[in-house]
Amino acid sequence: MARKLAAGNWKMNGSVAALAEVDALVADLPTGCEVLLCPPATLIAPMVARAGGSGLQVGAQTCHSAASGAHTGDISAAMLAEAGASHVITGHSERRTDHGETDAEVAAQTQAVLEAGMIAIVCVGETEAERDADVTLQVITTQLAGSIPDAAEPTRIVVAYEPVWAIGTGRTPTLDQIAEVHAHMRAELSARMGESAAHDIPLLYGGSVKPGNAAEIFAVADVDGALVGGASLKAADFGPIAAALAAS
Ligand code: PEP
Repeated sequence: MARKLAAGNWKMNGSVAALAEVDALVADLPTGCEVLLCPPATLIAPMVARAGGSGLQVGAQTCHSAASGAHTGDISAAMLAEAGASHVITGHSERRTDHGETDAEVAAQTQAVLEAGMIAIVCVGETEAERDADVTLQVITTQLAGSIPDAAEPTRIVVAYEPVWAIGTGRTPTLDQIAEVHAHMRAELSARMGESAAHDIPLLYGGSVKPGNAAEIFAVADVDGALVGGASLKAADFGPIAAALAAS
């Protein structure tokens, strides 16, 4: 059985003042699941300090695949680890779209995350056009195969299924559609890594998860948690989502 993870992605939002949300979140942190926030890179170290020994984990949203070098504006996995990050999101659809990141680049970043001793949250998901064309499962197969490096240790991989059309839109797939994709991901990972290893990999759903729909999503087979964007910015929203996961 995979461990449960409630992960929040602050994207390019937040400030030192917003760290007050950490105080509110850790005041009522559930014990039945792991809870992670991924703020902008500038807030990682201050958020780690603010979280103290609460158990709240802090991660990053992307990294460069190289260890160092002439890559102006980029940040390496080792730098994020040094700042206190435990996880790094790789292959988020906004990175794939805004920065043209390919599966091969995502795999290289994921490898860098693992080499720096952190856990990679590898994102996959179809566009609306791909869902309408009924090629969702093929897209997921291709992205999974291309974005997870061959040498990846299953214990340090998390996979997030994030339909692009559900991110930030208030729209979600049906529970049957989520179940279908998660079962497919589990089967693909089993075929590649073996059944036991694949069952240890947390599979997160992401896309317009809110306090009002979290419990029904967490009741879906093979959903081990969520990657949450907008609703992770406020402890009043993210706290209840994490609590619903802990109770599931
Ligand atoms: C995300 O960007 O990973 C995400 C799931 O966003 P939201 O929850 O806002 O849809």
